Formats: sequence, structure tokens, C-alpha cells
Amino acid sequence: MPLKALALASLLLTLCMALPAIAGPLRAGYARATITPEQPGQFIAGYGANRIAEGVHDDLWVRAIALDDGETTLVIVACDLIGLFLPDTDEIAGRVTGVPRESIIITCTHVHSGPDTLGLWGPAPTVSGVDPAYMSMVKERAAGAIAEAVSALTPCRLRFARAVAPERTGHNSRERDLIDPEISIMQAVTLDGVPICTLVNYACHPEVLTTQSKLITSDFVHSLREQMETAGTGDVLFVNGALGGMVTPEVSENSFAETERVGRALGRAAAAAIEHAVEVAEADIRLARARFSLPMANPLLALAAQLGVIKRAPNADGTITTTVTAGRIGPAQFATMPGEPLPKVGLAVKGLMDAQFRFFFGLADDELGYLLHAEAVDNERYAYEQRMSINPNAVPLLMERLEAAIDATR
Ligand SMILES: [Zn+2]
Repeated sequence: MPLKALALASLLLTLCMALPAIAGPLRAGYARATITPEQPGQFIAGYGANRIAEGVHDDLWVRAIALDDGETTLVIVACDLIGLFLPDTDEIAGRVTGVPRESIIITCTHVHSGPDTLGLWGPAPTVSGVDPAYMSMVKERAAGAIAEAVSALTPCRLRFARAVAPERTGHNSRERDLIDPEISIMQAVTLDGVPICTLVNYACHPEVLTTQSKLITSDFVHSLREQMETAGTGDVLFVNGALGGMVTPEVSENSFAETERVGRALGRAAAAAIEHAVEVAEADIRLARARFSLPMANPLLALAAQLGVIKRAPNADGTITTTVTAGRIGPAQFATMPGEPLPKVGLAVKGLMDAQFRFFFGLADDELGYLLHAEAVDNERYAYEQRMSINPNAVPLLMERLEAAIDATR
């Protein structure tokens, strides 16, 4: 190409990149699959080693919503699991043909009455509790749900709403009022107004039952979804938020009656908010993702990785590769972090957003443990969170990448 033409082509390319994306008609698709263990006897993730599942109270799910503006596809997946490491979410996304990895966000609801998918809750602290056959099933069904959601894309409108969590649902057991009480809601409906599915984003550990049950269950998340679905919202995807250090349900006892009370109260609040939703039929979907490495700064977890208890080998230089994502859809912005951010971290990320509706997803695409705000790093009150973090000083590094991603999607 002659030099002049090359310069012109380069100028045009720059202009194209600088032009704002044009809002296109939206499409949405939804699919779900059960990931309830087929065999009994799984190690339960949460509350110490060697807790073995004795039965099933309610099914565990992987649920996927696909969105498309004619140019960009975005798939948000919610799995009823304690967490998944990046190599596992990469493997799931890699099995889906025709959708780039950058377009797929795989989150975990962080249920504490499901199978061990990280390795920390096996028969003994030095032995992994992960069942490889169960992991294969999860990966196969998650990839299947993503592909099915994308193939189900149909013209839609999106409704956005927000609510405040009712009294006696979530609270912070470290610093009582330090929570993000916002419930952010995105509902996809057909052009005739029939719900396709509804995404609910709220921050709280699904651990009403603690050690009082050895049944497989998604805890209050099950009741939240059931409450909303009965009210006609279509299927619900629950995506957790800044639930770390230590946002947990406020209950009078660790029972299924309390999982129902908490879940239903949250579900009622979310369903009621949809009645006042802001609706869009056209919007451009903007996505920015960063993949980068952090120092692995926890000798105990490094040892667990070395022993093969957790399947998360550090890179040759001792770092861990992870990812964050930011996005915008019409009047809504979202951002993700790869672990369990403390509430101040989630609130700081939402503070970087200027959209009317703000979503913050924790446990997205990876599980680095707790992600601590600055004052928590040396505070004795957060000793447990410091121990259960791949790097207690990770947040400034994550924030830097996330802020750039948020800026790129304005
Ligand atoms: Zn947790």
C-alpha cells in the first residue's frame, strides 16, 4: 500500500475506534442446567475438613444469560458453587465455540452447602476435597448452558431496577453496618413483555445453615430465586457482590426456616423494584477486560498449591494470573473482581461508576480469597480474611486495572 493510503487507512482506523458505538437492538438468551452431584458422599465446601454430604435439599444450578447488541456478545454465568479458579473458568469458556473468552463472565454464588470445587475441604487439611468426576460434569454443563443461552438469543428489552435489602437479611459480623445494602436488578423481557430471565446482584454469604445441615443446598439463594420466580419474574440468576469480611445473613437460628425467611424477603424486595424499572430496547454493550499477574503473597496457600490441595499452581515467577472486567449496557455499568471483596472495596468500585444502575460482581472468573480494603490489611479483626487471601495487598493492583477498564467503557 502506498504511504499516503496507509496513512489514510490508519487515520480512518483511529477515527473508527474513537467513534462511540451505535446503540443496536438488543437480544437476550437464557439457559440453565443442574449441577447437583449425581453421587452422594461429596465433601462439602465450607466449615472445616471432612464434612460429607448426606443428601439433597434443593438442586444446584448453573444459569447463563447471553446479551447481544448486534456487535458485542456478553454472557453472564452464575454457578451454585463455593468458587472456581481461573484455569477452570478458562476451560469452561474454551469449550464454547463462537464466543470469545473476553465475552464470558463466570461467577459463583459462593454457596457453603455444595461440593468442594477448590480443594480446601477434603478428608484432611492436606488432602483435596475436589471430585474430578464432579468437576468434569460442572464444566460440561456450564459450557452447554452458555452455548444454549447464545443460541437462544431473541429480540428483547432490558429493565433495570434497584432496591435496598430489607431489615434482618444481610449484616456484617465484623463491623455491623459496613455493608452494601443495594440489590441491583436486570430483567430481560421479550418484545411482548414476557420475562426471559432476571439477574439479581446482592452481596451476602449463602451460609444461613452453617454446620447445622449436611444437605446439598444453595441456602437463601434458592428461596430468593423461588420467591421471585413464583412472582412471575422468569428464571433468576443470583450474582454475589462484595460479601467478604464478613457479610452474612442475620438469622435467629441456622435452619431452613431462616434460609426461606431471608431469601424470600430479598426476593420480594427485588421483585417489587422491577415494577418501577427503567426499560431500554436499544443500547450498545461495551466490555473491557484486563488479564494480569499478581504476586502470590500467602505462604500457606502457596504450600497448599504446592501440595496439590488447591489446583492453582503459581506462574514460574511466583505470581498468579487473574482477571477483572468492566462493562456498560445503556443506563447500567458493571464491574467484576476475582474473589471475595470486602464491602468497602465494592463500594469504592461503585463509586467509580456514573451510571444510574451499578452492578458489582464478586467471585467472578476466579477465586483469590478475600480482597481487603487498606485498613483491614493490618487489623487484627480481619486476621481470618488476611489468612484466607492469596495476597492481602491485592486490592490496589486490582483497582488500578479495574479503573482503567471502567474508563474504557464510558
Ligand atoms: Zn467466603
